[in-house]
Amino acid sequence: MCIRDRVSHIEHLGIAVKSLDEAIPYWENVLGLTCYKIEEVADQKVRTAFFMLGQTKIELLEATSEDSTIAKFVENKGIGIHHMALAVENIEEQLADASEKGLRLIDATPRKGADDMTIAFLHPKSTQGILTELCEKK
Ligand code: ZN
Repeated sequence: MCIRDRVSHIEHLGIAVKSLDEAIPYWENVLGLTCYKIEEVADQKVRTAFFMLGQTKIELLEATSEDSTIAKFVENKGIGIHHMALAVENIEEQLADASEKGLRLIDATPRKGADDMTIAFLHPKSTQGILTELCEKK
């Protein structure tokens, strides 16, 4: 992947929280952002809350089940930054290219994510330790 040509900006930072109710007041009252959407993503077993910060979003992720990857993340590492999402165009092409360049794909084909995005995750073992999500507005 060539960042300069293919990724326009950080679409969002995904942040693992224990509880949206506990986390949202920090983002709203301390940082002065407004939560514009709360959305449950059933197949990922999370409830998400979104804030705009410039052209980048903050995505808070709360587990809705103990076997959610977010529940496991919080248990092992605590709350905090979980993934970085890059805004791309032609996500299928970017995913094929990432695979060609030897990156490990968590999602072999793009799938539906929160906030009307088509997404695919790349494995952190092949992305310098950062769980990376490719994101395209569809
Ligand atoms: Zn995300």
